[in-house]
Amino acid sequence: MIYPWLQEPLARLMQRPPAQALLLSGPRGIGLSQFARQVAQALFCARPQAQGLGCGTCTPCQWFGAATHPDYRLLEPESAAAPPGVEGASPAGLSDSPRASPGSAWITVDQVRELSDFLVLSTHQQGYRVLVVDPAEALNPNAANALLKVLEEPRPGTVFLLVSHHPARVPATILSRCQSFKLALPPTPVALAWLQAQAVAAPEQLLALAGQAPLEAQRLALQEQGVRTAWLEHLVAGQLTLIQLSEHTAKLPLSDWLDWLQRWVFDLIEFKILGQARYHLALSSSLARMSERLSLFDLLAWEKSLREARRLMHHPLNPRLLAEHLLLPCFSTA
Ligand SMILES: [Zn+2]
Repeated sequence: MIYPWLQEPLARLMQRPPAQALLLSGPRGIGLSQFARQVAQALFCARPQAQGLGCGTCTPCQWFGAATHPDYRLLEPESAAAPPGVEGASPAGLSDSPRASPGSAWITVDQVRELSDFLVLSTHQQGYRVLVVDPAEALNPNAANALLKVLEEPRPGTVFLLVSHHPARVPATILSRCQSFKLALPPTPVALAWLQAQAVAAPEQLLALAGQAPLEAQRLALQEQGVRTAWLEHLVAGQLTLIQLSEHTAKLPLSDWLDWLQRWVFDLIEFKILGQARYHLALSSSLARMSERLSLFDLLAWEKSLREARRLMHHPLNPRLLAEHLLLPCFSTA
C-alpha cells in the first residue's frame, strides 16, 4: 500500500540509479517516513513493479515486511514519538558520554557507532545495504560527525536515506553529501478523496485545519472521535448531574456536540419507532433505556429544539445554559 500522492514521486525516484546518500524532505503529515521505507523495500525487491513499488511477495520483500532484512537498518531517536522540533532548541547530550538518557529525542553517537559492523561488513544478499535516518535533524552534533565519516567513505552498494521535515536544521556537512529529493503537499482533491476513503467525517475542515497534510487530518479525525466517545460515555452512564454534564459539554465546540447530540436523538427516535439504531450500533441497550423513559412526542420536541439551536448557532449564546437546556431530556425520569 502506498499513499496515492506518493505513487508518482516513488516511480520518478526509482527510475534512476539510487544516489549513495539521498535527502528526502517535505512537510509533516504526508507520509515521508513511509516513503523512505518504501524506497528501501523497492531497492531490495527481487521483482520491483513498474511503478517502483516492491512486489511484497519475494523473499527480500517478506524479510522487509517482517522487519528482519539483514541489510536494512533504521536510525531514529530512542523516543521516536517526540522529535526535536522546537525552533532554536539545542541538542541535548552533546557529550554523549555517558549514554544519553533513555527516551532521548536525539539520535546519539552511540547509536551511530552501533551500526559500524553493519556499515563495514559485506552485505548478506550481495545487493544494496540501506540505512534510513529518520529524521536527520535529530542527529546530535557528535552523531552527525560519526555519520559523516561513513558517508564520506561508504562501502559499495550502501544507500543512505535521510528523512527531514526541516532540512535547514540538518548539519551542512551532512547535507553537502546528499542528493536532494523534495516531496510536496498533495493536491487538495487527491487528499480529500483519500480522507473520504478512510471514512473521515468533515474532511474539508480537517484538511484545512491540518494545513493540507492528509495524515495530519486523519490524526485530528481520530482525536475528535476519542473526544466524542468520551462525551457519549458521560451521556449514557448517567453518573453526572445535569449541571456537570452541561459544564463538560459546553467546553466542547458547539457545532461538534450539537451534531453528536442530534445523531443521538435521531437514534432514540429510530429506536422508539423501529427498535434499531443507525449511528450507535454498540449502544443499543443505552438507547433502549433512554427511549423507554421518553414519549415519542418528547423525542420529537427534543429533536426540534436541536434543529433550532443549530439554526441559531452563530448568534451569541451562553454555552452552559444552552447545553443545560438541550441535555435536560436525558434526565427525564418519566
Ligand atoms: Zn519484492
